Formats: sequence, structure tokens, C-alpha cells
Amino acid sequence: MDNGTILVVGGAGYIGSHTVRALADAGRRVLVLDNLSEGHREAVTRCPLITADIHDCAALNKVFTEHTISAVMHFSAFAYVGESVANPQKYYHNNVSSTLNLLSAMLSYGVKYFIFSSSCATYGNPQYTPIDETHPQSPINPYGATKFMVERIVADYHNAYGLNYMCLRYFNAAGAHPDGATGESHRVETHLIPLILKTFTGENQQIQIFGNDYDTPDGTCVRDYIHVCDLADAHIAALSALLAGAESCCVNLGTGKGVSVKKMISACEEVVGKKAPVVAAPRRAGDPSILTASNALAFQTLGWKPRYTDIREIIATAWNWEQHRRY
Ligand code: UDP
Repeated sequence: MDNGTILVVGGAGYIGSHTVRALADAGRRVLVLDNLSEGHREAVTRCPLITADIHDCAALNKVFTEHTISAVMHFSAFAYVGESVANPQKYYHNNVSSTLNLLSAMLSYGVKYFIFSSSCATYGNPQYTPIDETHPQSPINPYGATKFMVERIVADYHNAYGLNYMCLRYFNAAGAHPDGATGESHRVETHLIPLILKTFTGENQQIQIFGNDYDTPDGTCVRDYIHVCDLADAHIAALSALLAGAESCCVNLGTGKGVSVKKMISACEEVVGKKAPVVAAPRRAGDPSILTASNALAFQTLGWKPRYTDIREIIATAWNWEQHRRY
């Protein structure tokens, strides 16, 4: 095993922190770099945390000078679709421009392995589902566009500079670590599962269904919810594959199963044993009707498949976190 340090940028955030735990479990030496704008200091317990922003070139250079970094995992990005439509500047500046800084530092210090948090939002409105990796990419919101741009940049850096990469296209990350020590905690919560669960804790009055006239079986949007620990495991597999000489590529990470907003509300009610107060609301800008993954390539290239295949199991971990959250 390569015994250099894995630099995890954004490792105090939701998916990053679960991946850091999985890396530590796998015996990797890990260093987290996070500006804590969205992340939580309490989420990083297994390795050192450097609080800095990747826009800060001096801070980046210091990290690469002081540590022998063998690979970089890059989770740090703003990820609210609605906000990206309202304030695209924030998204292009943070998600694209800061990534260029990070890549420049990697080139300067000869770090050749890069794992990037991409998204199913790069596909836009799907022409067919489940979506495989050859599906055309045509993002319909600035968030998806930023992820698509970075994928292109990384592919060009691969061709020109020999950067080895895996772009992991997440579908909808969900759930919490089953031990309850880490989970989802956003500055402003916009995600469906925590918002439903907060109606049971009394934190929210009701859950809004954003659009019930989509061209889907029950009229509400369908998404592919993938457990955060499954995502973390896929990163471990991607890192091992890359370091062992795997071809650079882009890989979907999803379960392959779609769950509608209405079905998600019913499943949460079943897990918790209470009824959620539901109201109809207009469609949310930038939402495609259906996003479900083909995860065949992930299995083929990474030997990865999700362990959580029942949405109720995923919800149960999220509900446990919601009731006992630590941050
Ligand atoms: N959604 C909803 N009500 C909410 C939050 C989300 O109906 O209060 C819908 C949203 O329109 C989308 C799905 O739930 O179709 C998942 O949204 P989320 O924000 O969790 O993830 P996204 O798909 O935007 O990454």
C-alpha cells in the first residue's frame, strides 16, 4: 500500500467526513483541509484538520510542502441547486475557480492522483433512465454546470499532464453512519429526507412537495438515494484502483432504484411510525423529473456495489442521527 498521506479537501463535510472515517478504517494516513464554511470540526476525529480555504494559495503550498501527499480527494463545493440558480457567481467562483488552485498545487508538487466529487446533476434532464456514464451531459443548473466543467478540466489535465483521476458522479447522498457519530448537518437544510424527519422532531411544521405534475408514476420527482457509507466505500475502492494503475474514468454512484418524493414521505412515516404533515408546493427551479443510476460500471471498475439497498434502512440511520445529532 502507498503510505503517503491522502489529502481530503472538504473532509469535514457530510460525504467527506464519512469517507475520512472509511479511509482511517482502511489504514490510510489522512489529512483534512476544510474552511469549515459548511463542514464541522466535530466531524473530523480520526486525523488532523487544517482549517484553510483552497482559494488561499499560500495555505495550499504550505500543506503540500509540509506533507508527502500521494493523492487528493476533493469534496469541497457548494451543493444547493436552488442557490446555484439564484447566485451562480458563488458557485462558479467556489466550485470551479478554487478547484483550479487545488489542481495547480497538485501539478506543482507532482501529485498525480485525484478523486473528484462529481454529480448526477451533470446529466441534466435524462434522455433515458437508468442513466449510464455514456449518457450525454447537459446540466440544467449552475451547480451541475460547475461539476461538469471540473470534469472537463480534469480530463484535459489527464491528457496534458498525466493526472490520474476518478470523477465519482453521486446520485442523492442520504443517511448517516450507523454508529450515530457522524451524519448530515447543513447550514441551511434543503434535502428531502432530513426535512421530512424534522417534521417528526417538531423542528419543521410540514413537508412541502415541490411539484406534483411531473411525468413520473405519481407526479413527484424520482431520485436515487445512496447511503453515505456506501459512497465512502466507493471512494476507498476508487483510491485503491487508481493507485494500482486503473484507467482514469467517470463513474456513477447510485443504487439503481428510484424513489419518488411521495414514496419517500411514506417510507419515512413507516420507519418513524408517525404521519408527516404534507403540503403541495410549486416545482423547484432546476429539478429534473427523474434521476436514477446505472451502477454497472462502478461494479465493473471498482468492484463496488451498495450495501444499503432498502430505502427504509437508509432512513433508519438518518432518523437515528436526527434524534441524537452531535453537531
Ligand atoms: N424536495 C421536496 N421538498 C423538499 C425538499 C426536496 O419535494 O422540501 C424534492 C426535490 O424537489 C427533489 C427531491 O425532493 O425532487 C430531492 O431533493 P434534494 O434537495 O433532497 O436533493 P437534490 O435532488 O436536489 O440533490
